[in-house]
Amino acid sequence: MRKPPPKTSCIKPLMQSHKPFYSRIFTVAKYCIGTVVLAQHHCLLCDEPGTSRLCHYCQKLLLNARHSCQQCALPLEHFALFCGQCLKQTPAFDYVFSPFLYQAPISTLILDYKQKSHDYTGKALSDLFCQSVSRHYRQEHLPQPTFITHVPLHWRNQWRRGFNQSANFSHALSRHMNIAHFSHSRRVKWTMSQKTLSKKERTQSLRGSFLITKPLNGESVVIVDDVMTTGATVNTLATELKKAGAGRVSVWVLARTPNYRFK
Ligand SMILES: [Zn+2]
Ligand SMILES: [Zn+2]
Repeated sequence: MRKPPPKTSCIKPLMQSHKPFYSRIFTVAKYCIGTVVLAQHHCLLCDEPGTSRLCHYCQKLLLNARHSCQQCALPLEHFALFCGQCLKQTPAFDYVFSPFLYQAPISTLILDYKQKSHDYTGKALSDLFCQSVSRHYRQEHLPQPTFITHVPLHWRNQWRRGFNQSANFSHALSRHMNIAHFSHSRRVKWTMSQKTLSKKERTQSLRGSFLITKPLNGESVVIVDDVMTTGATVNTLATELKKAGAGRVSVWVLARTPNYRFK
């Protein structure tokens, strides 16, 4: 990938200008501070210095679905309002927004953050998530939800990993979008890794996993998660939120797994 050539320094011409000395010093200081502030990040993928943790060129490498289901965001080959699964059985959640497909390079970055807890990667993904959601809601004129929550981890998994990436994303989104955080969702049942299970098996194993400890009164809630595969986890949590009195339940995930990746 070709990159633009680096800009040459403009300090020399500034110092040689005919402006008064104090004015030249002020201009040079402003230039130096500006350079430090603007180049405070290096792109995670290409190491290019810049203003964001993932440069403009590399952001273009992240894929999104051309057509997707209006309810579960499942990527579709052709335009259709809903996928076959949503038509067969309507999920408990009302809407899913996912800016990216779960494919490299974003899948590599998500795994890197999840498994190695790289803070810089987490911040890059948080920034990307916040920008994508706010841009989408602004462009589509969608109403903001009242509360934001995330898929909680069981305390054993939280203790083992040391952090919950979905919680970090939801707190970043709460601050960025100015939406109150709803911290009354608990994971009360420990479940084995869902990776090898089908959607039906995942739904069965997740039954009774979540507990909502504060009733809701028709408020709209958004659930935040990093990746959505079959949707069984967010569907179970959405069911519990609606039982607790939530109105519309939306889901925001950073990446959506295409259909062929799971049974
Ligand atoms: Zn880059
Ligand atoms: Zn669907």
